[in-house]
Order: sequence, then structure tokens, then C-alpha cells
Amino acid sequence: MSSPAHARPVPPRARRAAARGGSPFDPDETPLARTRRARRMARELALIHPDAHCELDFTDAFELLVATVLSAQTTDKTVNKVTPALFARYPDAPALAGADRAELEAILKPTGFFRAKANSVLGLAQALVERFDGEVPGRMADLVTLPGVGRKTANVVLGNAFGVPGLTVDTHFGRLVRRFGWTAEEDPVKVEAEVAELVPERDWTMFSHRVIFHGRRVCHAKKAACGACGLAQWCPSYGIGPTDPEVATALVRTPAASDTE
Ligand code: SF4
Repeated sequence: MSSPAHARPVPPRARRAAARGGSPFDPDETPLARTRRARRMARELALIHPDAHCELDFTDAFELLVATVLSAQTTDKTVNKVTPALFARYPDAPALAGADRAELEAILKPTGFFRAKANSVLGLAQALVERFDGEVPGRMADLVTLPGVGRKTANVVLGNAFGVPGLTVDTHFGRLVRRFGWTAEEDPVKVEAEVAELVPERDWTMFSHRVIFHGRRVCHAKKAACGACGLAQWCPSYGIGPTDPEVATALVRTPAASDTE
């Protein structure tokens, strides 16, 4: 495979380290080389996943905020099954803040941990009513003061409901950018800061969707489909999963089957 002019192939040392189970992050790769490699990979991801989008259904910032909080430890697909009934019954923060707990728990039951989740969304709605006139604030500094809302959730809401670029460092995102050798950090806030240096700000939201799509469909936690991966040329972790194209292609999940983690 040849390399494009401005994206050097992955440093061999990083690939050897990944093959031994070590970190594929190469501290000797220059920031310029890493940035060029990252941008080349980001462009390729856009080609691989032209349909990438937020997989939670929502019509406004309130619905997206609640749906994102509910998506903890369950699939977006499961959340999408309960939110139509949830938002029909409680269309805004004041309505949800005054919800009957038993009724709310019954609606949330299919999402698992429904008692804790009922607590979370009740506390969230009450905080919105008490401190933000029942509206979802459009600033990171305000969003992270809400109960149960960290930077990941705030970036989902900012990026998809307010058009403010945000990097969503969830489990897929962290795993993939470490496999890409873009960062060695485990802490999501540090991962976000390092990736922010590599990817243009205007692309952060869509880039996050594409990485998460890739994590759900191709670069799985247990069996990465390396032999069917369009990023192989630039990825130091190529080879951690099957490289045989036929075997790897069988691992690629279809969109309908991908929403399992
Ligand atoms: S599937 Fe393999 S080659 Fe592709 S990004 Fe994941 S680790 Fe790298």
C-alpha cells in the first residue's frame, strides 16, 4: 500500500509495540507527523462512515440531554425505545421534575438500573427548573454543574443540539484513539485535550460520531476487524485483530446489529 504525500505510514516501532500488547503511542513520532497522520485518518473515517450521526433520537436539547443520561450502561437502541413514551408523558423539564416516581420508573424499566436512572433524570430536571428556568443551558461551564452531567454528556448536547463543536470521549472513542497511537492517556478529559490538538475544531462533533461508528462496527473491543479496516495503513495497532480479509469482514457488524454495547 502506498502512502499519501502528507501522511507518513505508521512508525514501525509503534506497530511492534502494539503487536507485543504495549502502547501503540510512539513518543518519538513528531507532533507534526502525528497531526498529519491523524488528519489523514480523520478524512478516511469520513469516507468510511458517511452516514455517521448521533444514534440517540431527540427533537431538542432537553430530550437529547435526558436520553444521553439514560444511555449510561445501556444501548442507544434501548433508550430510543423508551424515550417516545417518556417525552410524550414529560415533554419538558418542569413536567419531568414533577413526575410521579413510580410512573417514571415503569417507563424507564427496559433501560436497566431504572431506579437509579429515575433518580438521575428527576434530579437533572429539578436542577434545570431551579437554576436555568427549565431550559438546557448551551455552555459547557453550566452543563457540567448539572447532576449526572460530565464533559462527555455535555459535549454530546453541545455538539448535536447547539452546534458547538465537541469531542465525545466515550468508551469507543478512548479505545480507538489509543489504538490509533494518538494518545497514551486513559483519563477522558486528557484524551479529549490531546485529540483536540490533532483534529480541527470545526470537525469535532462529526469526528466523534465517525470514531464511535467505527468502534461499534469495525474496531471492536475484543475482536478488531483489522483485515477489513480502511485505516489499517495508518494504524499502529493493525494486527491486534484478524488480518485475513475474509475472517475480518465477517466480524464487521451491520448498522442494525452494531448497537450492542
Ligand atoms: S480495526 Fe485494527 S487497523 Fe482498524 S483501527 Fe482498529 S486496530 Fe486499527
